[in-house]
Amino acid sequence: MNLPKLPEKISCREGKHVEGPTVVLLKQTHGDEAGGAKVVDLVMSRLKPITRGRLYYGEGNPRASEKNIRFIDSDLNRSYGKSQPRGYEGQRAAELKPILRSAYVLLDVHSFRKPAPPIICYPGNDFLRLEKLTTPLLIETVIYGPGLWPLNGDHLYTDTFVCAQGGIGLTIESGYLDDMSAVDSIAKGIQRIVENLLGARVHTVDETLDPAVKKYFHAYENVIAAKKFAFTKEWANFESVPDGTVYATAEGKTYRTDRDAVILFPKAKDSIVEGNEVCILLEKKMV
Ligand SMILES: [Zn+2]
Repeated sequence: MNLPKLPEKISCREGKHVEGPTVVLLKQTHGDEAGGAKVVDLVMSRLKPITRGRLYYGEGNPRASEKNIRFIDSDLNRSYGKSQPRGYEGQRAAELKPILRSAYVLLDVHSFRKPAPPIICYPGNDFLRLEKLTTPLLIETVIYGPGLWPLNGDHLYTDTFVCAQGGIGLTIESGYLDDMSAVDSIAKGIQRIVENLLGARVHTVDETLDPAVKKYFHAYENVIAAKKFAFTKEWANFESVPDGTVYATAEGKTYRTDRDAVILFPKAKDSIVEGNEVCILLEKKMV
């Protein structure tokens, strides 16, 4: 192998035929996400030798992982924008950017900070590639589209950075922090995705996996709090908001859905800040 010096805790495998896609598989972009870390460890312990392309894998945030904390100075998953934050994560993002720039596919495996079922997030709009790529992954809920970008439009997140370079940046949430119940199934799905892309011996993989019956949601709007913003009720995550519903109000303004929507990550009353994001609106995609 003839590779440039790799960042700390990042490794690389290459196929005999270097022509082929580059895949990046990351764990612990947030250092305390034990479930996501286990997923990547399982994938790498089971993965057969690849025959083409290149696989980079390892830890997003090694210093925070060592301490089992979310980050050292700032959130690494907000550090990939046009300007880098100061401190350890800014420096780490600068080290990882060249690798992410080369990625055809990024699989950034996270875990939630509240109990919730696993999801796949993809801030891009290429639905057909998304659908094909994630078929082996038995995660029911898939969210994609422009509503997953930060408000200022900058590619702050790992997945948006990869999408901005023309790649497919996926964030996979394995479930609650150290909830291991979905970990094995997610690891099998990711293993299959990597093997499909990089030409490993697919027939050795558990072939009993059925393509998942997935629910796809298009994130069409990132909602911003105007002055005196208040939700009309305490919306639950993933609650349906039928067409024409007034779901929030603000000074001189009502927030009404213009289609049958689903609300994602509605902020609690005391964490609503004027000018910041308060929720994301999704529409269910019929496939
Ligand atoms: Zn995370």
